[in-house]
Amino acid sequence: MSWGGIIQAYRDRLPLPEGAKIITLGEGNTPLLAAPRLVTALRGDFDLRLKYEGMNPTASFKDRGMTMAVTHAVAKGAKLVICASTGNTSASASAYAARAGIASAVIIPAGKIALGKLTQALIHGAKLLPISGNFDDALNLIRQMSNLPGVEVVNSINPVRIEGQKTASFEILETLERTPDFHFLPVGNAGNITAYWKGFCEALPQGPRPRMFGWQAAGAAPLVDGHIVKDPQTIATAIRIGNPASGPAALTAIKDSNGRIDKVTDEEILSAYQLLAQTEGIFVEPACAAPVAGLRKAVAAGWIPKGSLVTMTLTGHGLKDPDTALSLFPNAPSAIAPTLEAARKALGL
Ligand SMILES: *Cc1c(COP(=O)(O)O)cnc(C)c1O
Repeated sequence: MSWGGIIQAYRDRLPLPEGAKIITLGEGNTPLLAAPRLVTALRGDFDLRLKYEGMNPTASFKDRGMTMAVTHAVAKGAKLVICASTGNTSASASAYAARAGIASAVIIPAGKIALGKLTQALIHGAKLLPISGNFDDALNLIRQMSNLPGVEVVNSINPVRIEGQKTASFEILETLERTPDFHFLPVGNAGNITAYWKGFCEALPQGPRPRMFGWQAAGAAPLVDGHIVKDPQTIATAIRIGNPASGPAALTAIKDSNGRIDKVTDEEILSAYQLLAQTEGIFVEPACAAPVAGLRKAVAAGWIPKGSLVTMTLTGHGLKDPDTALSLFPNAPSAIAPTLEAARKALGL
């Protein structure tokens, strides 16, 4: 049977309204890639598998939650889906709304959205409302709008988003046919770490379960620092969040799994971002490199025993944010003559 998205695949494990019409773009069923060259570069000695969520229809994991949220919205008769977004939620919401034939509106921090994500929301016909504030301000506004008639909030404060996102854990366990020792992922609004833990708990009621290792950016690390961050700053815009909505649930996941929440600097993120692209051929957006940088730190600290099985979520595709990638290469190569001699000279052959 061909793949028909996560609701079709896991219908018995997802809450759905009676007779709901499923709104899907074929999300889920993403690759779980071994990454031996990256492990060697990190000087580790363990088995690393990368869940490449950039391969979803709108190129981030947000699609797993959005198929659920928009399916529920349509079943309730909503005419407009709204969200606050650092970018990927708006890209996903606008695509699934278009698929359902309903309208979408997205509230975004003005000037802080990666180019690819903004482009997606625009082309899918979303009404864009930039605000002079950050993501946390946008989410506050959304909470106030949630009771307007015909409107459905599709942020991860909507619990069906978490339900959809937990399916990534099911897929990891089915692919591996065993339980990873560790699971690494980036943490922003903390919905995804909450969802993965829920998925692992449901699929492995008796345990053992992976230890959850979540990574924040140093300039936006409220869960690590233990307080709200008023003006979060990081190049990893998808995790530039100072007051995570699912913070308490994330801390429970970390405690119950004997895991860890930690932070990495923008320099460490950018270095890991290039290392992943150049050792494994996998291009991600900067936020996804936070757990890669985290893994480097974990190896150096001796936290990953030899022979461990480590899984990691790469949350979104690198083409979402071409500006950050290009900024690492300020000197574009200049043109050469179209001759063998010039090509050999340029390549040192
Ligand atoms: C949304 C997002 C995150 C953060 O996920 P949370 O559930 O908010 O913690 C990380 N990376 C990417 C690419 C995202 O789109």
